[in-house]
Amino acid sequence: MTHFGPASKVILMTTKNNSPAPKDHPFAHLAAPPYRVVGVGLSQYQACQGAPIQPGTCCDYCGTGIVETYWVEGSDGRRFKVGNDCIRRTSDRKMAVEAREAARRSPELIAKREDAAKRARERRRLREIEKIAAHQDRVDAARAALPSLAAAFGAEPHPLAHLAARGMTRLDWAKWMLANAGRTGQSDVCRAVEDAKLAGLAVEVAPEPESEPEPAKPVSVHFGQKGRREAFGEFEVEAKICFEGLGGLRVLVKFRADDGRLGVWWTSVSASYELVRGDHVALTATVKDHDQYEGEAQTVLTRCKFQVVREAPEEAHQG
Ligand SMILES: [Zn+2]
Repeated sequence: MTHFGPASKVILMTTKNNSPAPKDHPFAHLAAPPYRVVGVGLSQYQACQGAPIQPGTCCDYCGTGIVETYWVEGSDGRRFKVGNDCIRRTSDRKMAVEAREAARRSPELIAKREDAAKRARERRRLREIEKIAAHQDRVDAARAALPSLAAAFGAEPHPLAHLAARGMTRLDWAKWMLANAGRTGQSDVCRAVEDAKLAGLAVEVAPEPESEPEPAKPVSVHFGQKGRREAFGEFEVEAKICFEGLGGLRVLVKFRADDGRLGVWWTSVSASYELVRGDHVALTATVKDHDQYEGEAQTVLTRCKFQVVREAPEEAHQG
């Protein structure tokens, strides 16, 4: 062990800073300590546009290929270059602070950091798009599975008591939510549909015959005058739906005219007994109200009298 150099102020200070003694400094063989960080930049190599970016040089200390390159000058004027790992791993705190400061100010590194932030934002955006697409797939699947669950869901009351009291079912809830609710509400329906499918509640439904594209439905408009009784001509029984309400079984009959007009009639099982979906009837009724359902104008009828003018084709009777 030999002494070296005068016990100068500089050496005392670096010792106090926990820097290694000059001769033990890991970079001592590259240039004489103490050191000064004289520059930092990016050294990268790209064979052609779109090719992966590769380190453009290597660290003089460890030989590893590096991109972020720190130029360091020794007190003897010799310069060498090291990577960001090596410059931080020495216990030379003064050099580490200088390196950090240089990195913070370097336009090249600032641009690189901004680029990385931009790419991170882009990745987050893509993840969000993927999430939305996955959600949409789930909603589409639930919508497609709903007809097979119509019987199961149609037999359950609407989750909201006041709508259940009006005879609405879990099927109405599911349809409405899928069409109108936000992501959370739609997810609730998806989960309910998935659970019901797992529980084996889905029944096969014959796919709609694809022979002819369905003609566009004419827009429904209100008809008749509230309170007035009239003969409204021919309607088809579009739907006949049984609801178990507070007052017992109720039947909702939907009458559809060729021009799209929709009449609805809440009645009893016995009063609607003769009506079959698909029947064409000549209808006389009193208009009770004009209202809307799912964006469609419907005329609420009461005291309906009908005469079947054309019976539904045989297969429609099962519906
Ligand atoms: Zn290195």
